[in-house]
Amino acid sequence: MGEMTAHLSRWVLPVSAPPIRDGAVLVDEGQIRAVGPASEVLKGFQGSLRDHGTGAILPGLVNCHTHLEFSALAGKIMPQLRWEDWLEMNLAASASLSPRDKEAGILRGLADLHRYGTALVGDISNTGDSLAHLAASPLEYRLFYECLGFNLLDLGPLEEAFPFFATSQARDDLNISAAAHAPYSVSPALFRAVSQWNSCRRRPQAVHLGESAAELDFLARGDGFFKDLLQTRGRWVPDFTPPGMTPAAYLQSLGFLGPDTLAVHGTRLDAGDCRVLARSRTWVILCPRANTFTGGGSPPVAELLQAGVSLALGTDSLAGNYDLNLFGEMLWLYRHYPQYPGDLWLYLGTLQGAQALHRHQDLGSLEPGKKAALGFIPLSGRQDFWEELYLNGAAGEWQWLDGFSL
Ligand SMILES: [Zn+2]
Repeated sequence: MGEMTAHLSRWVLPVSAPPIRDGAVLVDEGQIRAVGPASEVLKGFQGSLRDHGTGAILPGLVNCHTHLEFSALAGKIMPQLRWEDWLEMNLAASASLSPRDKEAGILRGLADLHRYGTALVGDISNTGDSLAHLAASPLEYRLFYECLGFNLLDLGPLEEAFPFFATSQARDDLNISAAAHAPYSVSPALFRAVSQWNSCRRRPQAVHLGESAAELDFLARGDGFFKDLLQTRGRWVPDFTPPGMTPAAYLQSLGFLGPDTLAVHGTRLDAGDCRVLARSRTWVILCPRANTFTGGGSPPVAELLQAGVSLALGTDSLAGNYDLNLFGEMLWLYRHYPQYPGDLWLYLGTLQGAQALHRHQDLGSLEPGKKAALGFIPLSGRQDFWEELYLNGAAGEWQWLDGFSL
């Protein structure tokens, strides 16, 4: 039996409850035992005390969308004004990476995620290569094995086209899901097969949705950038009939939306799409700095919130963002949307993300019985509370408090 530890600080941010001034979190055997004002929680307490001083204790972050396999592209792709240019640079640069580069990138990306306070990550993989590293890391994870196949028109079970899903690992590791890449790269049959594989295992699924103007054009008219790209890559379907719908309406028609679906980016969603996503209780994962980097535009945050869409956060990859620090996304949102309460962005980056990834039972907030995945950020108290929290988090000042060390 380990000794119980009491972590004290000027502020404790449980996320599931209002901030606590002069708070304490009791931790034992990797679990949170109590959270509250120190004056109450420490009554009769006999374990060890660790007073972290001026700052805030908060839960580890939940990054719902990364591609660790692209981490080796860090610094090799410059921010772009046109998303199509970014994609082409990304495809060309990825093709030149050796397996060794990719593996070193995965380890670097994981170390970054950890250093910046990530407790749980949703990682998109096209090869399964990040899985062993995720499993060996202190981070909790959900691996989304991503499927592409615009020309897979007749498809039986997912395992037939993607042997990864027939492995005992994919079946037995409850942290593995299938993902569909995007509406312009996945056939209706493949969307259905992905959905089928996940839904009978009650696992969440992901898709990139509404990320570029080219995607809207392609779904409306079946031509433009993506037709050219699919032709170049030998994936074009000559008698393809465009659905003539917006992205969310299209996925709704395929039965792909719902509370177990994470729709990532959403920069090009219109009011109708927002209503469809809200009604189906589909998650939208905001990666606003990544969208700025790739030229994908900005997500319609106010419209999404107004419509009642459930939101969580991701960074996307080091090929399409400046770093994997989720505090950077929170700071961006805080500064661009001053009309909302400052704590909203922390809520999206913790408890909401945990719920989107089906891990809110044990992560995402400071509550008795949850994992002791918590950290501390020093604060001077000389500026706006939330701005300083997000700024210091973005500056890498996170300190893990209990376990979760590499
Ligand atoms: Zn992505």
